[in-house]
Amino acid sequence: MSIVKPLGVFLLVCLALVAIIVGARRATRGGKEKQIMASGDERSGPLVRSDQEWKEVLSDLEFRVTRQKGTEPAFSGEYWDTKTPGVYRCRCCGAPLFSSQAKFDSKTGWPSYWEPIDKDNVRTEEDNSWFMRRTEVLCSKCDAHLGHVFPDGPPPTGLRYCINSASLELDPRTSAEDTSPSGQ
Ligand SMILES: [Zn+2]
Repeated sequence: MSIVKPLGVFLLVCLALVAIIVGARRATRGGKEKQIMASGDERSGPLVRSDQEWKEVLSDLEFRVTRQKGTEPAFSGEYWDTKTPGVYRCRCCGAPLFSSQAKFDSKTGWPSYWEPIDKDNVRTEEDNSWFMRRTEVLCSKCDAHLGHVFPDGPPPTGLRYCINSASLELDPRTSAEDTSPSGQ
């Protein structure tokens, strides 16, 4: 009796040790997997969709222009000659981008604006494609390609935001609240 009891205790201690070691190993592996998943999920930008998802909601031309940085032919788009008052929204995400009040006739065949509704709603990036040095304009919210901005626009800014109609959707509203650029 006096020998059996310590042996039993010894076996129990061994079992407990094995259980602790196996448990600790599992926890470490689980932690690593969690870390990898977390870093993969952290995407920048408030609206991220796959190409397939964009294709379901955009026409072929809209997809080519907004998601693949294409350009619609001059004088072919829906809005190059439009004078209807309203807000031009992002075709992809609906963010308000340009006001009809900042639209002007640039004679280029693309809708042109001297400023965005809000500087935070668009972002720019250097574009050196096609052997040209240009500044690309993108939607801040969904990263849609909108067009380019050039320093040859009219007052008050001297800028010309040359935008594809395919990247825009006119929201024809007339109230001052909807159309006046913020900060003006
Ligand atoms: Zn957008």
